[in-house]
Amino acid sequence: MTIRSHVQVGKALLLTALATLVGVASASAQAKPLAGADVPKIYERLLKQIDQIPIYDNHSHATFPDDSDMDAQAAPPDETSVLRLRDTNPEFVAAAKSLFGYPYDDFKPEHAKWLIDKKKAAEASGSTAYWDSILDKLNIEICLANRVALAPYLDPKRFHWVFFVDSFLFPLNNRDQTGKNPDMGVYIPLQEKVLQRYMKQENLGGLPPDLAGYESFVRQTLADNQKKGGVAIKFEAAYFRSLYFSDPPREKAEEIYAKYHAGGVPSNEEYRTFQDYVFRVLIDQAGKLNLPVHFHSAVGIGDYFSLRNGNPLNLENVVRDPRYSKTNFVLIHGGYPYTLDMIWMTAAKNVYTDSSLMGYYVYPSELKNILKQWISLFPDRIMFGSDAFPFNDAVGAEETFWLAARSARTAVAAALAELVSEGAFNEEKALELAHMYLHDNAAKLYGAKP
Ligand SMILES: [Zn+2]
Repeated sequence: MTIRSHVQVGKALLLTALATLVGVASASAQAKPLAGADVPKIYERLLKQIDQIPIYDNHSHATFPDDSDMDAQAAPPDETSVLRLRDTNPEFVAAAKSLFGYPYDDFKPEHAKWLIDKKKAAEASGSTAYWDSILDKLNIEICLANRVALAPYLDPKRFHWVFFVDSFLFPLNNRDQTGKNPDMGVYIPLQEKVLQRYMKQENLGGLPPDLAGYESFVRQTLADNQKKGGVAIKFEAAYFRSLYFSDPPREKAEEIYAKYHAGGVPSNEEYRTFQDYVFRVLIDQAGKLNLPVHFHSAVGIGDYFSLRNGNPLNLENVVRDPRYSKTNFVLIHGGYPYTLDMIWMTAAKNVYTDSSLMGYYVYPSELKNILKQWISLFPDRIMFGSDAFPFNDAVGAEETFWLAARSARTAVAAALAELVSEGAFNEEKALELAHMYLHDNAAKLYGAKP
């Protein structure tokens, strides 16, 4: 090599080093508190790519509206709905147009019939192709279906079953529980039905004579449901009681079970103690089977839902208990409205949350704010969830899948566009974070084998 070429190489190296320095300098500057005028352009670029990300949906009730297995509970008698979920929301018309080419601009009964007929025909066909096609239209790859049982019209390759376990908390005489308020009057008999169903599945003619027998029934049902395709267990407990679970000694639960399994009405305190013990059997078994534990943690429907009882902070003593460090907890619905508390709950390595339910309660502009905060803190613990659910015969789980998926894709693109514009990270990193939220975190959680 000549001296001249050494100089040239040296110059080239210097230029490269300079370019790198400039690059590093701009990427490592302090993030700005205000996003710039480039946000809409960054948003458009990101959204185009975010639309291509296949979604892993952490929570849905994929179902036809007349299928009572869609949930272990039913809507209470006099529900008041948030603004966005009322029949008057024009977004549902947009959903029906986008999914089915719905030719009308409202859901007047004579118009809605067009949509209802189409869905009834799909249900009558009995084929799994219909729901697969809904997922395909929305680029949803896998979808957890939280149901009492999987349905023959759902393709098990795409829809993975999350089964309910609250019924195990209600084996005793529920007279006082049912009488607490009109909502409980609807919920508790349905829990009793699910328990009967599990007992039949396990060939039990009645409750086992002692707590040991009851515990093995509980553990065996979880193992059998996993063999049938179950990928996680789900508690709707926040609808029935506080999410705070004490840690009673086994002898106490044994005493209560012995006293009441054949009859008699336990006091509230006795029932609570018994439930707290059985709850711990359930999460222990879920940990052993490597089944993540889902909780409804957030606001809920009905006139008697207690925000305080549903606050995710109630679960702190459980998710931070070293005995359950191998159990994964998924606190769904983002703990909404306690979304900031929620993201700090996920600071524990075995705790996750999702944006289901809240993602269609609020409009995308507000979901953007929540996701921006979450992404800035623990982006590896958050997941998309649709909570797709039928509202009536016309507006079904199909339209809520659409609303949730469109809301989340646009909101996460907007949150990331602001963060890129503010100098938090570049667009490449933004897309990696979008993948984590929409797909990768869930794929990792449910893909992990014991
Ligand atoms: Zn749900």
